[in-house]
Amino acid sequence: MLYPVLQFNPKPDHPARVLATDLDGTFIPLPENSDNRDALSTFYQAQAQHQMGLVYATGRHLDSTLAAMQEHGLPLPDWIVCDVGTSIYHCQNSDYLPFAPYQDFLTERTYGIDRAAVESVLHPIDGLVLQAPERQQRFKISYVTAARDVESLATLASQYLANAGLPYACLASLNPFHPEGLVDVLPLGTSKASALIWLASHADFTPDDVIFAGDSGNDLAALTCGFRAIVVANAAAGLADRVAEALAARGLSRQLFRASLPATSGVLQGCRHFQLLPPPP
Ligand SMILES: [Mg+2]
Repeated sequence: MLYPVLQFNPKPDHPARVLATDLDGTFIPLPENSDNRDALSTFYQAQAQHQMGLVYATGRHLDSTLAAMQEHGLPLPDWIVCDVGTSIYHCQNSDYLPFAPYQDFLTERTYGIDRAAVESVLHPIDGLVLQAPERQQRFKISYVTAARDVESLATLASQYLANAGLPYACLASLNPFHPEGLVDVLPLGTSKASALIWLASHADFTPDDVIFAGDSGNDLAALTCGFRAIVVANAAAGLADRVAEALAARGLSRQLFRASLPATSGVLQGCRHFQLLPPPP
């Protein structure tokens, strides 16, 4: 597992301007939760009135993100960070185009060593099977494994990559939709959090402008790097405590909002708490 310690020193008095949010379990309304649907309408209006910038940060790939946006009627964000931080897309005329400066940055970070080198080094590992081409990205090499082998194969793959001196690292997870393991090979140091910090330093906003909302362990780095942080009420057990501890250790307890409501409603509570959005009428 690769979650490098990423931090910046926020200026807590700087006003928030942008919501960056995880989708599944966070911004997407929970099934049959009318309060979540109402919260989504509030975000719609706020965005239409240019009260806030909006960034989606998700492990999904672009097509899956666009499908979720359509299925759940989500507002169109200005930016989408997807593929576990290996791709950034910019909204232009309602179309999402890869943000070329980020591709250049990752090319530089990997010294131009591309996915073909990774595939050839990992090819001899039994049980590590490349996923279908539509699941692959320029900077994300994705494998499937038996669920029980995912950690051991990710460890082995990391050793192969290190021995070959390739600037890539492995991220292991279980497929939430099928009983199988997933191993993603990413440029060293890349995560949702690193991509968001990079974006906030290269787009039309700054890290101090950002509120980040999340619900699970893969949001931990983005929740603790220094952004204002919202942990929704339906978050994984213990997540809010881990975020609280990490921020308190840096004297940044004020950066955390623990929502008492789940998913979209909790995100809305947090955006009001941090004064990105006005209080309810
Ligand atoms: Mg989530």
